[in-house]
Amino acid sequence: MGGTERDFVNEAFDTNWVAPLGPNVNGFEKDLEAYQGQVTHVAALSSGTAAIHLALIQAGVGPGDEVLCQSFTFCGSSNPILYLGATPILVDSEPDTWNICPDALEQAYKDRVKQGKTPKALLAVHLYGMPYKVDAVHAFAKANNLKVIEDSAEALGSTYKNRKCGTFGDYGILSFNGNKIITTSGGGAMVCHTKEAKDRTVFLATQARDAAPHYQHSQVGFNYRMSNISAGIGRGQMQVLDKHIELRRAMNTFYQNIFKNVDGVTVQVEQNDDYFSNHWLSAILVDPEKTGGLTREDLRLAFEADNIESRPLWKPMHMQPLYEKYPYYGDDRTCEDLFEKGLCLPSGSNLTDADRERIKAVVVKTFDS
Ligand SMILES: *Cc1c(COP(=O)(O)O)cnc(C)c1O
Repeated sequence: MGGTERDFVNEAFDTNWVAPLGPNVNGFEKDLEAYQGQVTHVAALSSGTAAIHLALIQAGVGPGDEVLCQSFTFCGSSNPILYLGATPILVDSEPDTWNICPDALEQAYKDRVKQGKTPKALLAVHLYGMPYKVDAVHAFAKANNLKVIEDSAEALGSTYKNRKCGTFGDYGILSFNGNKIITTSGGGAMVCHTKEAKDRTVFLATQARDAAPHYQHSQVGFNYRMSNISAGIGRGQMQVLDKHIELRRAMNTFYQNIFKNVDGVTVQVEQNDDYFSNHWLSAILVDPEKTGGLTREDLRLAFEADNIESRPLWKPMHMQPLYEKYPYYGDDRTCEDLFEKGLCLPSGSNLTDADRERIKAVVVKTFDS
């Protein structure tokens, strides 16, 4: 927490705005719109997963439809496809950004069309804060009339060619879950490009109540709006967002330095100046063929022995029991390789110099560097 969150929450109590609407919700949305830039209309929601669910609905996805989806992601990206009875078509990543591979995407799309099942939408993810190949992915989507749901849950503050992630897709998704770069304890948002899309999102998120003095409903709605208490935390957090990004990026630089002279370990970094990652999590790849046999699991266990938490990269969806039966495209199997070799390292905005010393000591001991 930054410090001012409590002031906004106290104000909500003092004015009795304890509800899923109120001045903090409106204020947080305005803050996010200003931060994202472009012409955006933001709807604050109960979670990032809820935002993806509502985005898919607005993209016209329903039972039996197919949705192209980056396989290398967290289940919050892909589960809403299943909520709708639609079919996820899982697509491999490429090694530069670890995100959706434009070639595998094209291969997947063409094959689905050949089978008479033209996909309706594309769900692409800026994983760990690293922007995906925005130009290539969006050019393909545009040429093929695919609505893009841009999962920016981990990438608030990241940019591609100086434009904020979350503003490229037809629908941009943000998350403020407890583990994200800023948090409202739990929460999310949809970044829209028209007021109509935002209004429609809020309508669906508040039980789809028709305009009438009584409760009148002609379609299924959801209870997905953000609470005014949570939004108060969010307004306070907006004041420390850029500071958090600075600290997370400093952690990435720290890891670049300590692994600089370790053969076989590479830190995930931006490939060129088009990319700016918030480095929500810093992650490495450990190649046992170059480390003399040491694996990412050896390093994870060495950290664990010293009570330091690290975690393998996201297990691709096509390798998950829940998703095994769905089609997967990608001959290179890049994301399988990432899962096998990758480790997320301590990256929190609150790590101290003493914490960094402990982390470094484990690395030095493990790699004898
Ligand atoms: C966290 C996350 C989500 C879901 O957000 P919640 O607010 O936790 O529902 C979706 N996609 C990705 C990539 C995430 O990291």
